[in-house]
Amino acid sequence: MTGRLDAYATTVLEDMEHRGLLHRARPIWSAAESTVEMGGRRLVQLASNNYLGLTTHPAVLRAAADAVQVFGTGAGAVRAIVGTMTVHEVCEAKLAALKGAEAAVLMPSGFTANVGVVTALMGPGDLIVSDELNHASIIDGIRLSGAEKRIYPHKDLRALEVCLRDAHRFAKCLVVTDGVFSMDGDIAPLPDIVRLTRQYGATLMVDDAHATGVLGKAGGGTAEHFGVHGGVDIQIGTLSKALAAVGGFIASSRPVVELIRQRARPFLFSAALPPAVAASVTAAMDIMATEPERQARLWENTRYFKGELVRLGFDIGMSETPITPVILGDSKRAQHMSQLLEDAGVLATPIVYPMVPEPKARIRTIVMATHSREELAHAIDAFERIGRSLGVSS
Ligand code: PMP
Repeated sequence: MTGRLDAYATTVLEDMEHRGLLHRARPIWSAAESTVEMGGRRLVQLASNNYLGLTTHPAVLRAAADAVQVFGTGAGAVRAIVGTMTVHEVCEAKLAALKGAEAAVLMPSGFTANVGVVTALMGPGDLIVSDELNHASIIDGIRLSGAEKRIYPHKDLRALEVCLRDAHRFAKCLVVTDGVFSMDGDIAPLPDIVRLTRQYGATLMVDDAHATGVLGKAGGGTAEHFGVHGGVDIQIGTLSKALAAVGGFIASSRPVVELIRQRARPFLFSAALPPAVAASVTAAMDIMATEPERQARLWENTRYFKGELVRLGFDIGMSETPITPVILGDSKRAQHMSQLLEDAGVLATPIVYPMVPEPKARIRTIVMATHSREELAHAIDAFERIGRSLGVSS
């Protein structure tokens, strides 16, 4: 039996290899900083979601180490049984405040936060309207929920309105969008989406995985950026990007969060986050408040790096945030360019199907607050030389 499965796996892998779709993740030997050590070399890092560089901040490290001393390495249970520790509740209260929401609940990951919230709140007889470029975890949540789904072309407000016209026929209607789109780095037109959602009596959920700590003066995300807090009913976040750890959360009204605690399967059936994670995330939020210059520096670096890529004639699509794709089209070309960049001392990974449609392969770059101008200039120099040699820039 295993023989047949092995043959199947081998065939699929060979096909993926042929199409340039295999990931070849190699281990990093150091922390996720602006430069990393890999295979004995230091590379400028342009692939991490550690936007604010907080994974190695001394106060974050201290908070994690202190929590390990007091609470140990694991919570030992799911939250709903005996896995809830005071550090989890402190972290949730702070996340709710950051998001301007009544309450928040932690989840094992951003992925399970999306799946958990959609399946806990929506079911057969309901309607979910979703942007075509929403994260895979939203798509999976919709599939699992059994609700009717309608997908609208990316940020197409007219199409969104068409989807909503008969929303009143359904028991409930949920509109879902990423705040910042993870592969393209553009921002959802939230004020218009809020207006349409209200007009048709629907509920709005925003996945702010890439916006928390990045957008909004206090790092509160897309709703804060646009000043539309009251219009977003459910905000999803991850702890794995600007908040420098791992895990996810949902921020919403008290009753909605309570229902999620009672019903969301990833909350009920998956273990509580390690206490050190909750403590380190609380510390990361404190630093966001006391060191706003980190966010300012992130945006300075973003403007510089994006401006240089545009000057060199790369196709950066619709990007408006620290995520800047260099769109190449062909998967193998993306893999080849990534290898050449690595040879030149720059770590910038190829993004291929299924993360993006097959003809839209790209190198995705993400700058951090902690990149020095010299590091970014070195990367730009490499992009310039390699882009020209491959004929993908001007
Ligand atoms: N939503 C979006 C938009 C994301 O980019 C990601 C991370 N890839 C997630 C959700 C999932 O978050 P996590 O890594 O915490 O599972």
